[in-house]
Amino acid sequence: MATLKRINQDDLRNHNLSVVLNQVLRSPQPLSRADLAKATGLTKATMSLLVSLLIEHGVLREGVPLVQAVYGRPSTPLIIAGGRVCGIGIQINTDGYGYTVLDLDGSTVAERWVDRDLHEVDADEIFADLDAMLLDQEQTLREQGYILAGTGIALPGLVTEDAHLIVARNLGWENIDLMQYDVIKRLNVVAGNESNMAATAHLPGYATQVHDEGMVGPDGSFIYVSTDIGIGGAIVRDGKVVDGGHGFAGEIGHLSVQLDGPQCRCGRHGCLEVYAGRRSMVERAGLASGDAAASQQAIDMFTQAVFDGAEPMHNVYLKAFGAMVSAIVSTINLSDVDTVIIGGCWAQLSAEERERMQAEVQRQILARDKVEAHILLTRDMRRPALIGAAQIGLRKFVDNPLAYLTADSVA
Ligand SMILES: [Zn+2]
Repeated sequence: MATLKRINQDDLRNHNLSVVLNQVLRSPQPLSRADLAKATGLTKATMSLLVSLLIEHGVLREGVPLVQAVYGRPSTPLIIAGGRVCGIGIQINTDGYGYTVLDLDGSTVAERWVDRDLHEVDADEIFADLDAMLLDQEQTLREQGYILAGTGIALPGLVTEDAHLIVARNLGWENIDLMQYDVIKRLNVVAGNESNMAATAHLPGYATQVHDEGMVGPDGSFIYVSTDIGIGGAIVRDGKVVDGGHGFAGEIGHLSVQLDGPQCRCGRHGCLEVYAGRRSMVERAGLASGDAAASQQAIDMFTQAVFDGAEPMHNVYLKAFGAMVSAIVSTINLSDVDTVIIGGCWAQLSAEERERMQAEVQRQILARDKVEAHILLTRDMRRPALIGAAQIGLRKFVDNPLAYLTADSVA
């Protein structure tokens, strides 16, 4: 009985700590113990105890007390301490691979990225290199006194919950059991699709301290479109990525926008990716082909040509623009989510072109009289999937804090 009672108390405390952390992370302004008690419905005494525990373990620290009223007691703001809890995000993409380490306070602890065209490169070699890079990093984090909450890896393909990469066509990888790699096993990495992870990075306060409201709130609903060589997507509803029955939902890039269009790598015809993917646009414009068409230089050349109004390039762009609009309209009609965030190469659209896209989407959606569509571009986040992967790792701490805080002082 005693054991059972103890377990229940720990469970409750763990749950309450998680609620407190969530509240702190999602608030752009520092909260006091009284604010937290009010927001969570916990008593002031319980809150005091929970906050003490988090301070004792270096997760929270007290800021400078603020006197709010002449006769009021000073209110002490609570701040994520920084330097204590971190998460690692790994990404393998068509243009390279690397990792980032994020602190719970939202700052970047360390980052490394290797620029390299990964089309048809041996997976074993990349994972071996990541393993070596991360072994060093893990050692440094230990020396710095960090608790590593968890690690996520973002991959440009279909990934199952048990870390099996079914296919990543733009890497030329198929049917890979990721658990065979030391780095994945050692760090117990959560593997996922890059669009889902990039979408997570747009949820303020998901696992790191928010500093502003972000594009959508922490419980926002939006469609994320990731545009690169491949085009991926994710549907986020009420602050949660909708994974689907098998974890494969949101593949906007393979919505067909023309039944008799060119064949896509997936086997179908006229997929969005065939028109609006980075490599496809360059190839269709006749600027380069094969691997050369996938280079950054090629897309820069294409963008410049479109900007200059060169006729064939401009036509390719217009077709791609129309394909983007068509797929976005279908997705809005299907999901009834009115906000679209575009990341990757299409996030470089000019302000006028973004407005034109939004107006065109608005004109075409079925519920145009009732729903206002918003098209947002994510320009300032360089590798959102990498950040999202680190947040997925950090989230393990937010969901289960007691598991990470040493047992001896938790009596
Ligand atoms: Zn396709």
